[in-house]
Amino acid sequence: TMTMSTPLIQMEGIEKVFHTEDLETHALSKVNFAINKGEFFSIAGPSGCGKSTLLSILGLLDTPTDGRYLLDGVPVNGLSVKERARIRNEQIGFIFQSFNLIGDMSVEDNVELPLVYRRMEKKERRARVASVLERVQMSHRAKHLPSQLSGGQQQRVAVARALVGDPKILLADEPTGNLDSVNGEKVLDLLKQLQAEGSTICMVTHDDRYSNYASRTIHLFDGTVQRVVDTERPLDLKAGVLS
Ligand code: ADP
Ligand code: MG
Repeated sequence: TMTMSTPLIQMEGIEKVFHTEDLETHALSKVNFAINKGEFFSIAGPSGCGKSTLLSILGLLDTPTDGRYLLDGVPVNGLSVKERARIRNEQIGFIFQSFNLIGDMSVEDNVELPLVYRRMEKKERRARVASVLERVQMSHRAKHLPSQLSGGQQQRVAVARALVGDPKILLADEPTGNLDSVNGEKVLDLLKQLQAEGSTICMVTHDDRYSNYASRTIHLFDGTVQRVVDTERPLDLKAGVLS
């Protein structure tokens, strides 16, 4: 019987070359991997090894020089700029190291923005915003400005903004990079909880302390895959991963 489902993400032979004035940087070379639905996948490796480049390609913010990328079985290489923007808006949630909230907009307006771009009607937008703010425990700060929140709270709002459109995958680039260890752990606990509820997460980190949150970790070095390590702790195996 057909019980195997297609991986959510398939990367085949991904290459990325950056050309600047007189320099050619091979940022990614022969990168192959797949991410299954419900995984907490992490990308690790030292600074400059290609983690952010890979995440930008995963998030359709950049295109590979060569290779094939299938998102939920659909090849995304040849899509137009407009189609890529639509897929980004509807299927991908981004969380950045520096939160990237808009400073003169309230928490709830920040979280609502991706839905405004989607032309969703106001009533549904408001209901979704209220629901995700509750999920990240930030309802009580809905009318605040980002500058009135701690770093950990701002990142929880950024997680809510990434979640509000119900994306197929959450991409996080060093989401704990600007947080102290207590708040860093809180944000990772939140991501882990979202995974248990069925989300698929791909996180970049160079911090080994956090690698045990992931179910699998891909280690990059100089743009190539060194190894992929199963980091799932046995006790977590049944936590919603198969749903
Ligand atoms: P990491 O996120 O692992 O620190 P990056 O993906 O940012 O690494 O960078 C990988 C390599 O590609 C580095 O050598 C970097 O200097 C180079 N690079 C990244 N972006 C660009 C760009 N837009 N133009 C030229 N070189 C780039
Ligand atoms: Mg980076």
